[in-house]
Amino acid sequence: MADTSTGPTSAEPGASGEKLPGIRHVIAVASGKGGVGKSTVSVNLALALRQRGARVGLVDADILGPSIPGMLGIPTGQPPAMTPGGQALPVERYGIGTMSMAMLTDDDSPAVLRGPMVSKYLKMFIGATQWGPLDFLLLDLPPGTGDIQLTLAQSVPLSGAVIVTTPQDVSLKIARRGLRMFERVHVPILGVIENMSGFTCGHCGETTDVFRRGGGERMSQQLQVPFLGAIPLDAEIVTGGDEGCPIVIARPESIAARAYGALAAQLEEQLDNARGGVLKPFAWRWDSNEGAPGWVASAARPAGNRVRPVGLRRHDLRTLAVLWEDGREDRFDVRDLRLACRCALCIEEMSGRKLLDPKSVRADVTPRVLASVGNYAIGIDWNDEHNSGLYSFDHLRSLGERSGALVAEDV
Ligand code: ADP
Repeated sequence: MADTSTGPTSAEPGASGEKLPGIRHVIAVASGKGGVGKSTVSVNLALALRQRGARVGLVDADILGPSIPGMLGIPTGQPPAMTPGGQALPVERYGIGTMSMAMLTDDDSPAVLRGPMVSKYLKMFIGATQWGPLDFLLLDLPPGTGDIQLTLAQSVPLSGAVIVTTPQDVSLKIARRGLRMFERVHVPILGVIENMSGFTCGHCGETTDVFRRGGGERMSQQLQVPFLGAIPLDAEIVTGGDEGCPIVIARPESIAARAYGALAAQLEEQLDNARGGVLKPFAWRWDSNEGAPGWVASAARPAGNRVRPVGLRRHDLRTLAVLWEDGREDRFDVRDLRLACRCALCIEEMSGRKLLDPKSVRADVTPRVLASVGNYAIGIDWNDEHNSGLYSFDHLRSLGERSGALVAEDV
């Protein structure tokens, strides 16, 4: 187990910005419990990142219950080749390299290892493997958020973690536990993925909500972390996994494969955001305008990020103006923003039903303080004593686009 007081910690990138030599981002894929599809997400996300042109490696960090080789059609019990220097060569499949305990044992002899050995193997898979230059090294963590996961999160310099949940698994308690675990070791949460969200019919391609949708999204709202996207419940995802040819490869045009592609894009964007935009963290007093974040019009460009603000200012006392990096400007009436709050007090967690009665919100409701939350949202403390809401830039942008569309229709 690494000692975070002396070893490299996740909070301290090297001078080059790379936390492991030659590897731009090491990302843990975690879940509060087993069976939510975490390994399936890891595999398909890795392949979707590859399809977007990234160089990707995948470590099956579930040393005691490895499942990645099966999903990629890699035979078990066949150890990887070694370099003359004693480094393992990752096994290549579909353009990504992978390392797993299943290569060292076979399915019938489950590894019985004690904690320190688990950590030793993991370090070998990451540090004593010749990955070559990579954009992403994904770690499929064992399910749960116990000691093993904590040790793993500590022993590897992570860029961040993504948490996989299912819509029924809106159990905030479980997700929160995972979150706290990463927070303890200063690992940023890059976002939440909702898996098995709605059912996609294999014949007509239509998606039906088997479970309630949006649990993951609401969860990320409440836990104040980004929402990366939803993957539908799809029998072909299971077939792909069972047959060793993941759906992203087997059916790249399917809805599920495209959902993994969107996820990969979101993850890249999140990492991009995490590098910091032009706006620095702020706590902005609306009345006095003290601490205003700024307006950097020169940073806007057509190819810019659509959910990264490069300017926030008071257009007038009732209007917040946002300049996005792609050059679009949105103006929000502050009371409309108060009404659009999506916190648990304003929206029912399970059903998504609106709880906030617009009539109960005073006409002169005004922000007291707007504060940045990570690089993805602002929190607003309102003068009606409401302050639990969080406005992700994603949410703000879609609010802006929706009201923009209304204006266009009016003319
Ligand atoms: P975990 O790693 O969380 O334990 P797995 O990735 O092993 O979960 O997935 C558990 C089961 O759920 C597998 O049979 C897998 O094929 C299936 N599964 C995963 N994601 C989906 C999905 N989106 N739709 C249908 N089945 C899925």
